[in-house]
Amino acid sequence: MISLLTVYREEEIMKSHLIKPFLDESYPVADYGQGIYLYDKTGKKYIDGSSGAVTANIGHGIPEIADAMKKQAEKVSFVYRSQFTSEPAEKLANKLKDWAPGDVNWTFFVNSGSEATETALKVAIQYWQEKGKPSKIKVLSRWMSYHGITLGSLSMSGHVGRRARFTPLLEDFPSVEPPYCFRCPFKQTHPQCGLMCADELERAILREGADHIAAFIAEPVIGASGGAIVPPPGYYERIKEICDKYDVLFIADEVMTGFGRTGKRFAIDHWAVVPDIIAVGKGLTGGYAPLAATIISDKVLAPVRQGSKIIMSGHTYSANPQATAVGLAVLNYVEKYNLTKRAEKTGDKLMSRLKNLKRHYPIIGDVRGKGLLTGVEFISNVFNHMPFSSEVSVSKKIISKCMDKGLLVYPASAGIEGKAGDAVLIAPPLTIIEEEINDLVTIFEESVKEVQSELQIQGYF
Ligand code: PMP
Repeated sequence: MISLLTVYREEEIMKSHLIKPFLDESYPVADYGQGIYLYDKTGKKYIDGSSGAVTANIGHGIPEIADAMKKQAEKVSFVYRSQFTSEPAEKLANKLKDWAPGDVNWTFFVNSGSEATETALKVAIQYWQEKGKPSKIKVLSRWMSYHGITLGSLSMSGHVGRRARFTPLLEDFPSVEPPYCFRCPFKQTHPQCGLMCADELERAILREGADHIAAFIAEPVIGASGGAIVPPPGYYERIKEICDKYDVLFIADEVMTGFGRTGKRFAIDHWAVVPDIIAVGKGLTGGYAPLAATIISDKVLAPVRQGSKIIMSGHTYSANPQATAVGLAVLNYVEKYNLTKRAEKTGDKLMSRLKNLKRHYPIIGDVRGKGLLTGVEFISNVFNHMPFSSEVSVSKKIISKCMDKGLLVYPASAGIEGKAGDAVLIAPPLTIIEEEINDLVTIFEESVKEVQSELQIQGYF
């Protein structure tokens, strides 16, 4: 029952001067969170089935994280990075050295995933400058990608809708086809395809001239722009081979996939490949503080150390003691409760439950992912896998139906009509237990069922 007082307060909030994502839409007011659940001011309970934007990896309202925040706030919350270093920043960087694969050992802290990929871009360019190859300035990516919203990170991203208004300001970075087997851009199937999608990188490098390419950036599992797209076996090994052959750095954007989300420490660890630079964010603090980082290999840092001795980037809040103390507490929590391993196991359960739904609801075209990063793509035609047109807004319909029923799932779309389908990400906190997975899938199934029959009635399916 919603009390009059609550409604009044909510109306006041809706009239407030906060700019919300869609200006004309109203949003529930978050009150508190506990484990995988969020509660709004009316008392409605939601399963956080997407960990927000795949961020709240360890769940909500954990007292030991709150304790760590309080302790650090009482000691010192802010020091400026060119005047002081701090214990939590040092300790977290050392922990990231242990988390990251191979020689990816050096951390530069920033505040958002966009800043992490943008810093990766700048570090790659600087690396080649220090090596005496200043013409290597372009970064190749895949058109099905999202690497951030700042102009540099957006230049590397494919999402047409997000780019459109700013295109004249964006760098003219080339892109290649994604490893999207459900809708293979080459109309092939694996393994007969011979990994044409990976080989396209070589063609793109040759087309641009290797002398102009600093790096290739990829999300190891494509998240928000595709819906947990996992490349076929051998893809990243081939990509790395091509990068090495043409002196192109490989940047893994692990902003969404890092810190156990896919059942490995980093998603790239599913393949026998070590990147040169890794961008991280989101799960680094599980949403308890804004913090992200660019983790750099020995190889990439060496010429900077010998050369200009400074990474030409940085922000006021870089290596902030408060945020890094939170990161440290969150990663300690992930380790203590073995959440990476748990994500692998519960992810298998979630995946098999979702695959089972696909057998019953023809609107579901594909179910995919790794660990607790799963994607469900919708189709309008079971025979040719035709995506719904954007006017149907199928994932929006599913998301709002789920939300009405108390489940949060996240939209995933490449933003290119016809070339890719509409999908949702289901990515609950890594702490989710089997019973909660059952509840999540039950609500998701009811929502899919209702949307499917509504679309049938409207003649869209
Ligand atoms: N890279 C990836 C893979 C992401 O998923 C995101 C955010 N969805 C970003 C970069 C940008 O991160 P932020 O929103 O923190 O700037």
